[in-house]
Amino acid sequence: MIPSDVAELHADLTRAVRGRVRFDAASRAMWSADASNYRRVPIGVVTPVDADDVEAAVSVCSTHDVPVLPRGAGTSIAGQAVNTAVVLDFTRHLNQVLEIDPDAAPPVSSPVWCSTTCGPPRASTG
Ligand SMILES: Cc1cc2nc3c(=O)[nH]c(=O)nc-3n(C[C@H](O)[C@H](O)[C@H](O)COP(=O)(O)OP(=O)(O)OC[C@H]3O[C@@H](n4cnc5c(N)ncnc54)[C@H](O)[C@@H]3O)c2cc1C
Repeated sequence: MIPSDVAELHADLTRAVRGRVRFDAASRAMWSADASNYRRVPIGVVTPVDADDVEAAVSVCSTHDVPVLPRGAGTSIAGQAVNTAVVLDFTRHLNQVLEIDPDAAPPVSSPVWCSTTCGPPRASTG
């Protein structure tokens, strides 16, 4: 469902979120694919800088009754990371390991923490 007031949604997100808010055709095309064969053009793409930004974006989308779609590495292979929604892309800023307890797995991290980065922090705990 594409909302009738896309311009208003764009403006409200831009006001509320500190990260980038992109509704241009090129950006929407770039985020229309993941590792699957599915293609769905998003309504827009938000790159939140922190958890407060995520909350602000979700709040605006909720007010506009628009779906949100969290996106990590986009490696899901059944189209989970593409949809007609506002995509929240966590790869840019929410990609930190927050806490490592060597006796407990997995470590606490931001939404995006690729397995390829798993080795060094674990290794550093000895
Ligand atoms: C070649 C290949 C090999 C793989 N091997 C394995 C394997 O060995 N073991 C295994 O378990 N998996 C494997 N996978 C699957 C892949 O690791 C999973 O699809 C992974 O969980 C996707 O994470 P992502 O960050 O890429 O999320 P995305 O692909 O971006 O999204 C996956 C789903 O999670 C949701 N999502 C993303 N971030 C959040 C968030 N912060 N909060 C809430 N929902 C969120 C998305 O909306 C979407 O529905 C493999 C995939 C590929 C392509």
